Amino acid sequence: MNFNTARLQANIAARAARLWEDGYTLTRKAEDTLVITSNEGTNYEIDTFWETCSCPCFKNNDTCKHWIGWKNLEKIQAEYEEHLLSQAPTEDEEFGRTWYECRAAALAR
Ligand SMILES: [Zn+2]
Repeated sequence: MNFNTARLQANIAARAARLWEDGYTLTRKAEDTLVITSNEGTNYEIDTFWETCSCPCFKNNDTCKHWIGWKNLEKIQAEYEEHLLSQAPTEDEEFGRTWYECRAAALAR
């Protein structure tokens, strides 16, 4: 990777990192199609199956801030879901709670 390519990649990554703060919005158009709308109202389509974006930057560089912005968002979402799963009670805890609830109900009778 030459200097200019590296600089371009860094620039795209930096803009992707603040994409959502900059007012870009994301809507799902179809199973594999997302639409990213800029704060000026321009729409770009992301194809999550072919991993492409319809913007000119993607055509020239095979990457763009929309694509990376979406991947960042997807990663955060996956981490959040993983976090929720890790918070779910284990089978033992579930059993313990059920037992406790039965006991509490029996005592309340
Ligand atoms: Zn794009």
